[in-house]
Amino acid sequence: MWPIYVFTAELLVVTLFIITDIFLPMRRISEVRVIIVGAGASGIAAATSLVEHGIDNIMILEAENRTGGRINTVPFGNGVVELGCQWVHGEEGNAVFSMASQYGLLMDSVINYDIEKMVFIGSSGNIVNRKTTEELYGILREISNSSKTDLVNYTGSLGEYFSHKYKQKLEGHPLSNSSLARAFLDWVHKGSNIEDAADSWYETSGHGQVEYQVCKGKQTWAWKSGYSTVLDLLKKRIPDPSNELPVESKTNFKAEVNKIRWNNLSGENKNKVAVECSDGSVHVADHVILTLSLGVLKKRGDFMFQPALPAQKLNAIKGLCIGNVDKILLKYPYRWWPDNFTVFSVLKTNETAACIGEKCWVHDIHVFEVVDNQPHVLSAWLSGSAARHMEQLPEEQLMQETIEFIREFMGKAFNVTVPSPEELLRSSWSSNPHFHGSYSFRCMETERLNVSAAQLAEPVINNNGISVLLFAGEATHSSYYSTVHGAIESGWREAKRLTEFYKMEMPCCSGAWCCQDWCLPLQGWDAVCGRLEPTWSEAWYGAPLSA
Ligand SMILES: Cc1cc2nc3c(=O)[nH]c(=O)nc-3n(C[C@H](O)[C@H](O)[C@H](O)COP(=O)(O)OP(=O)(O)OC[C@H]3O[C@@H](n4cnc5c(N)ncnc54)[C@H](O)[C@@H]3O)c2cc1C
Repeated sequence: MWPIYVFTAELLVVTLFIITDIFLPMRRISEVRVIIVGAGASGIAAATSLVEHGIDNIMILEAENRTGGRINTVPFGNGVVELGCQWVHGEEGNAVFSMASQYGLLMDSVINYDIEKMVFIGSSGNIVNRKTTEELYGILREISNSSKTDLVNYTGSLGEYFSHKYKQKLEGHPLSNSSLARAFLDWVHKGSNIEDAADSWYETSGHGQVEYQVCKGKQTWAWKSGYSTVLDLLKKRIPDPSNELPVESKTNFKAEVNKIRWNNLSGENKNKVAVECSDGSVHVADHVILTLSLGVLKKRGDFMFQPALPAQKLNAIKGLCIGNVDKILLKYPYRWWPDNFTVFSVLKTNETAACIGEKCWVHDIHVFEVVDNQPHVLSAWLSGSAARHMEQLPEEQLMQETIEFIREFMGKAFNVTVPSPEELLRSSWSSNPHFHGSYSFRCMETERLNVSAAQLAEPVINNNGISVLLFAGEATHSSYYSTVHGAIESGWREAKRLTEFYKMEMPCCSGAWCCQDWCLPLQGWDAVCGRLEPTWSEAWYGAPLSA
């Protein structure tokens, strides 16, 4: 046992470390130009872009033991499946599509939401009449198609808009008061919650829908070898592995950042940022690019930063929204569903047939879809509270309740004996502390607080006027939020901010703004000064270094 005075001394050291940075030099284990927090799409995009433009004194700190973040391609069944992002949405202006299509890495997904390929099953296990399906689905599609124009000046929620329009369109229709019509609206509601990652479309901003820009072209491109291929493209491992950019070697895995001190550090560190990980290691840099999900910023943004983030930044974190979408993947010994359909949905056509207690979550599964390249796998999609509940279930119970539901509805509808799945896999985006949700959206709170992605993306500047904290990640993109192409563009944006910052006027080494050492002309940029001295910031803001 330790004597009491040793224990007291330990406590004192810990306390001192928290209130001051005088121990920083003792604990420092590394110093780099730029630290990137997070090795998801935006982090890898930022890192590769910096390295390509000559800023290679960087480090990535990643809390998980893998790269990709919400890109999570995993082995399953006879190949791979996606626990996170699934498709490349659109072509025109989509950076992912541009990179991937030139090497033929994409293919048409089997999922395209063509009504011909969809089956709707009623509460009693009956297949809903095709003519009725087409009619109601058609009405809802019409509303969706006109929503972009209608919602420009709309102040209500997406749910209010849709329900009102649907009621209007169904007026005088023989189905207007039917439970089937209500069941279809409920199905579109669940679909909208998956698209926006919202708990309810009454919390989704109607006007916010206008902010999201759809890239023209096919919306469901699938990857031939999994979404993680995009990381190889960013790292330049494709097309030629020998040209791979050294980013993996600059990544510390299992490095969970829990404290960032960004202003008023003492002595020679005065313009630097100190990043502390949960293992106690401290890393010092001139700039930190944060790619944390909005979910992590919401949970930890209040106490992760010292001093606290500016009020406008905290307001943006509060006002932008993130929700949860999950998948359950089921691998069967053989395909038991009809070959000519790809999407299966159970509609709540009997509102009085109550589900029993906790098992209700399973009735909130929006769709069961077939999976590209995996003929024996079905993927169930769900969102909101049902998804959060599902994440907490013991695996055996999850398997049992899913099997029962599928047998009760799909087994009955197709008149087949549904075998038990051989494998089950689920995502847990809400309960994983490194994500706390799946993707961001614009909610009613966004409108109330009048905040924007641009405010979230705004760099935080220290007392000496230097942008020390930079923000990337899907939620910081004004029009492509919630996507991989948005995340990648945001990483490039912040890398560019830094490369521009370090760019000196040409000719670099003979002008007034001279680097002390050397200048390095780089492809695509006029020049980037190499190995700037510690006083570089004074050179930038004050007298030239050589003066
Ligand atoms: C179920 C699902 C389906 C989706 N479908 C699509 C789709 O079809 N098409 C599409 O374009 N997009 C889709 N998306 C969205 C897309 O995956 C994301 O927008 C994108 O991957 C986000 O990348 P990012 O770099 O912004 O964030 P992330 O991928 O979240 O990267 C942030 C990284 O930071 C790390 N981190 C967190 N906390 C810490 C910490 N304290 N210290 C250090 N590291 C930390 C995380 O581990 C993570 O690796 C989907 C997402 C989900 C979840």
